[in-house]
Amino acid sequence: MSARDLSAPVNGSGVQAPSIPQSLLPKDGRFGSGPSKVRDDQVAAIAGAGRSVLGTSHRQLPVRSLVARVRAGMSDLFSLPDGYEVVLGNGGSTAFWDVATTCLVRERAQHLVLGAFSDKFAKATAAAPFLAPPDVRRSDPFSAPAPGAEPGVDAYAWPHNETSTGVVVPVVRPPGVDDGALVLVDATSAAGGVAVDVSQTDAYYFAPQKSFGSDGGLWLALLSPAAVARAEELQPGRWVPGSLDLLAALAESRREQTVNTPAVATLLMLAEQVEWMLDRGGLAWAAARSAESASRLYEWAEASQYARPAVRDRSLRSPVVGTIDLDPSVDAAAVRTVLRANGVVDVEPYRGLGGNQLRVGMFPAVDPHDVSALTACVDHVVAALS
Ligand SMILES: *Cc1c(COP(=O)(O)O)cnc(C)c1O
Repeated sequence: MSARDLSAPVNGSGVQAPSIPQSLLPKDGRFGSGPSKVRDDQVAAIAGAGRSVLGTSHRQLPVRSLVARVRAGMSDLFSLPDGYEVVLGNGGSTAFWDVATTCLVRERAQHLVLGAFSDKFAKATAAAPFLAPPDVRRSDPFSAPAPGAEPGVDAYAWPHNETSTGVVVPVVRPPGVDDGALVLVDATSAAGGVAVDVSQTDAYYFAPQKSFGSDGGLWLALLSPAAVARAEELQPGRWVPGSLDLLAALAESRREQTVNTPAVATLLMLAEQVEWMLDRGGLAWAAARSAESASRLYEWAEASQYARPAVRDRSLRSPVVGTIDLDPSVDAAAVRTVLRANGVVDVEPYRGLGGNQLRVGMFPAVDPHDVSALTACVDHVVAALS
């Protein structure tokens, strides 16, 4: 949709988008599932760091101190188990899929595929000429398959939160797997908004633009000693492109640097957000805040005449990304258009996946009161359109 279309008629009848009363509107109308709401204080921190950090070398102390803040903050936030390390690099979670394919999967991976993001990682290992075809376990969208021990599988992969559908999958090592098998969990949208025991994983990886409310472009991974040992075992015998070299990323991370130039403003916003969480009680606090937002959204939908949570199984409903199906008698696209015209944005479903749906990002930066305000706005718009 072009910018010109934003105030276009919503139903082809020549009627302009109705305005939502100011009293109903959320204080902040950003409900995207990534990029997600960036807090004003994070933006102010960028201005504040002006000449002392921005535009200075990432090989010198000011930026290295910033990387150190991020790594130490993550280590605290996730109560990093002994021997685990915080590693970061460029290219976002999509790049980390290629890093993991190249440096962590020995021969065969198992993937749970329950939506668009988990499918992309499965496709990455399936396409790798040096790996056997993966064991792929699928479920209907808006539900989840379970991992299960499979002889010969040396890496088990699933998303903690499948952002395209709003489904959470428990992070627990599957029992009975081969000795030394790794657990690789895509926590791009869950990390920072959902409680986790990192010791159940060997790579818990994510990017800053979801629960950490920053910009995209980086990947971060919490790596177990077994993951590092796997990379050390595989790398001598396999060609690893420099930008995907996990051991190089690890070596630079240990020196509070990255292999190549990082986005310094993103690191700043990320450091601010991790410390914002830590100052308020850490991951338990952040997860409780998202859970509070989510209970407001799901309870509203369950009580509604025309809305219902797309994920039927309550235990699988995400606290950070809520998907809400609207009755066919309500045009969700028209509702979203009116919301957008009133500054309430990014509740679109994931590309073609969601149908007549609203998808709501409820990362820790989002105020639970604003989620309640959003539901009031939706009720108002649906009444106005009918
Ligand atoms: C957003 C997202 C990705 C992709 O992240 P990029 O940083 O854009 O590559 C991968 N996995 C999940 C679960 C996501 O939510």
